[in-house]
Amino acid sequence: MNPVESQSEAAAAIKQAVSLAADPNPTISKQEALLRISPTQLEAVLHTGFEHSTRDVLTQGLGASPGAAVGKIVLTADEAMTATDDVILVREETSPADVHGMQVAVGILTTRGGLASHAAVVARGWGKPAVCGAENIEIADDHIVVNGERIDVGETLSIDGTSGDVIRGTVHTTHVEPIPEIAVLLQWADEVRDLNIRANADTADEAKVARVNGAEGIGLCRTEHMFLDEQRLPIIRKMILAASAEQETQALQALRDSQHKDFLGLLEEMDGLPVTVRLLDPPLHEFLPEIEDLIEAAARNELDQHDQDLLRAARRWRERNPMIGTRGVRLAWLKPGLYEMQTLALLDAIADRTASGGTPLVEIMIPLTVSGEELAGIRERIQSTIEEHSPGASIKIGTMIETPRAALVADQLAQHADFFSFGTNDLTQLTFGFSRDDIESSIMGLYLEQGLLHNNPFQQVDSEAVTELVQLGVERGRNTKPDLPIGVCGEHGGDPTSIELLAATGIDYVSCSPPRIPIARLAAAQAAIHRTTEN
Ligand code: PEP
Ligand code: MG
Repeated sequence: MNPVESQSEAAAAIKQAVSLAADPNPTISKQEALLRISPTQLEAVLHTGFEHSTRDVLTQGLGASPGAAVGKIVLTADEAMTATDDVILVREETSPADVHGMQVAVGILTTRGGLASHAAVVARGWGKPAVCGAENIEIADDHIVVNGERIDVGETLSIDGTSGDVIRGTVHTTHVEPIPEIAVLLQWADEVRDLNIRANADTADEAKVARVNGAEGIGLCRTEHMFLDEQRLPIIRKMILAASAEQETQALQALRDSQHKDFLGLLEEMDGLPVTVRLLDPPLHEFLPEIEDLIEAAARNELDQHDQDLLRAARRWRERNPMIGTRGVRLAWLKPGLYEMQTLALLDAIADRTASGGTPLVEIMIPLTVSGEELAGIRERIQSTIEEHSPGASIKIGTMIETPRAALVADQLAQHADFFSFGTNDLTQLTFGFSRDDIESSIMGLYLEQGLLHNNPFQQVDSEAVTELVQLGVERGRNTKPDLPIGVCGEHGGDPTSIELLAATGIDYVSCSPPRIPIARLAAAQAAIHRTTEN
């Protein structure tokens, strides 16, 4: 179907369903209206699309962040920054060091990485179109090669972040004007759903979009994303490079000051709603330049003293399997000042908000815990920081459940947690033993084609093992604490089928990127209706 038709047809379907159910003599119920509209139709009217269905598709990657984008190719974040036209940033993968370029690009295209990769997660958070893992694209110095066809930097590409299509040249984009019936439909959805919907938001701007879209709080603020712009990277690098306790303390103080401002912005936007702040999670080398680039520069004798220090740090922090290495709560055991600094920055922001009459509701979340002792120790430190600096402040401290072990020992973890949030990206990675950064652009296509897997488990939560682990974690957690609040903040929280499957496990909320909140509200309502009609 032509995408323009599908957009306008979806808009017409929404208008019709709402008018039939809102009529003084309704011919269908509100619930029937809600069931008539598929999340895909809602998505179609919320994003830009391409005009022509017959388009010359060069290659395909994963539709990682919906919407259409047209721009000139650039291959580095710095080129994106200096470009005067709209650009598509093409990278093998993105990392924190690319974020300034990603921000200014109209679309992002990567040749490696899946739906839970850095590029995909960041782009979805911003609502920026992205295609990831387009493995048929090779990147050279000043051009790319797609299936043998050379395309130079500066030439135009069109990407479709919904279908994953990559097209040479310009395809005209379309946008359906917002229709008031969407708000009516979503209000009906809110009346029937029993799952709360929160947002994965890291900045005040994202929080604003989330709130407009109906988020009932922030379920995941990835604090590492606050260090990703060019001005902030040197601050965190200073901490990584600190050669003495004194230098580390100084670097942590600078981090505290910058995080204080970030948290303040977030709490202002989300005033009166819960904001779950996850303490630093990624392996530290992610904040350093690529080690290969440093080694090449060293061979050319191009490293100054600071670069040499960076190279030493990159070697120090290099791991063969960084995603199962020194990250998450493990970092806090290695660098005890880190979580304390983040807690202090939060307390500073809470104090400011309270002083100006706001109602900050903060929850601190600890990532990647695997044992009761590990969680208890860090919780104790965070609590004593709170007691020392803001005695009596009431801040919930919870944990992510991201490993099969954490799900299995959820009864123990619940003793030290005020809430759980399932990180289904890591839980999927670790349940399958599939690298979330590599598998979708390596063998996932083959596995789907051969029927070895029925769905991409990073897109649609695996209903055979991962949801069972979630259910088990919910049951065991609530055996210890019957009222334990539990959410899901992996990317599945914005996928309609996953929402339905996860709702059945007994969780209280899902958290997803701000642009997906309307979809999640509809999907949660449909899940609730299906459950009541089945029973
Ligand atoms: C997850 O693992 O599902 C999660 C939300 O954390 P992150 O994607 O930041 O690892
Ligand atoms: Mg995780």
